[in-house]
Amino acid sequence: MAAQRVTVSSDGNKKISRVRVAVRLRPYLDKEDEKGEGPCVRGLDKQNLEIVNWRNATETVKYHFDAFHGEKTTQQEVFLSSVKPVLSHVLNGQNASVFAYGPTGAGKTHTMLGSAEKPGVIPRAVREVFNLVHAKDAEEGWDYSISMSYLEIYNEKVLDLLSPSSQDLPIRQDKDKNIFIPGLTNVTISSFSDFDTHFVPASLNRTTASTKMNQRSSRSHAILLIKVVRTSRVLPHRQQTGKLYLVDLAGSEDNRRTGNQGIRLKESGAINLSLFTLSKDSLGGSAHSVMITNIAPEYKYYFDTFSALNFAAKSKMIVNKPFTRETVAVPVLPVKRAREEHKAGGSGS
Ligand code: ADP
Ligand code: MG
Repeated sequence: MAAQRVTVSSDGNKKISRVRVAVRLRPYLDKEDEKGEGPCVRGLDKQNLEIVNWRNATETVKYHFDAFHGEKTTQQEVFLSSVKPVLSHVLNGQNASVFAYGPTGAGKTHTMLGSAEKPGVIPRAVREVFNLVHAKDAEEGWDYSISMSYLEIYNEKVLDLLSPSSQDLPIRQDKDKNIFIPGLTNVTISSFSDFDTHFVPASLNRTTASTKMNQRSSRSHAILLIKVVRTSRVLPHRQQTGKLYLVDLAGSEDNRRTGNQGIRLKESGAINLSLFTLSKDSLGGSAHSVMITNIAPEYKYYFDTFSALNFAAKSKMIVNKPFTRETVAVPVLPVKRAREEHKAGGSGS
């Protein structure tokens, strides 16, 4: 079916939605505690935790979050409580994002990717999106199409992980304030195993690059984008696009070390700028957002943990106004259609 962009968005369901902030404490690891000092952070209940006060070790500083996931929390529990609730919005033309934030070594990749035995947020969320679409298919008059992109932002450069020869792609914003990356691979996926076929080798691309390039993965953002487009089966073929961003952020310690020189300083700045651009689409703007702040209990992480908790506490103030992006797909003559699409520019994100 030919599609022409006519309407841009409908703000009928503009609701305020705060960024949901969860904190996950990973289990204490002996090998991360050479001095045998024990943990400096502990959970109090499902929303509260405390950390030793460095000014006065007899005191603690307490924090309150939307959710606190203690060291015994399973991958399934993190998914059910912090991620699953936002996924349904993506089928209704709204954006949702899940960010893993925190110092290197605190569990971001474990949370997002996990392992074969303990799959993380990414495989669980993608599976659930397919389940939701299948469940909806039967009951409503929409056709759904799901696609994926997978990219890495390192040093202000975008690397297409689905097509590693594409380096340094630009990040653009169209007139409707949609963030998009011209040239970024966007593959249609029809099942979870289809997703896995593309995702697994692409993740290996990232791991290989990281060992060659000196801990690159700790200084880059890995962003998986799952796009759900639904088109009404009846005229005028309304079309809604929802985007789900699943993001394994660069280590938060980079943002704090202002004394860095040379390449490190450049990397820190780049992380902030690219994150800012990204956040227009997925954090402060139109999305239902979840930030999972990962922290580690050992003293060697103490100051990074402290600043990550303070950043997370501030993030609770961010307010989102999610809205539905809708266009009307109408049949048009092929010539005119080509011209219209040219005018509309890329919408490939
Ligand atoms: P990051 O991506 O933030 O640098 P990782 O996810 O690589 O951190 O975690 C660092 C180490 O801690 C890894 O060996 C990982 O398997 C382990 N780990 C992290 N979180 C957990 C957890 N919740 N349970 C068990 N092991 C964990
Ligand atoms: Mg990692």
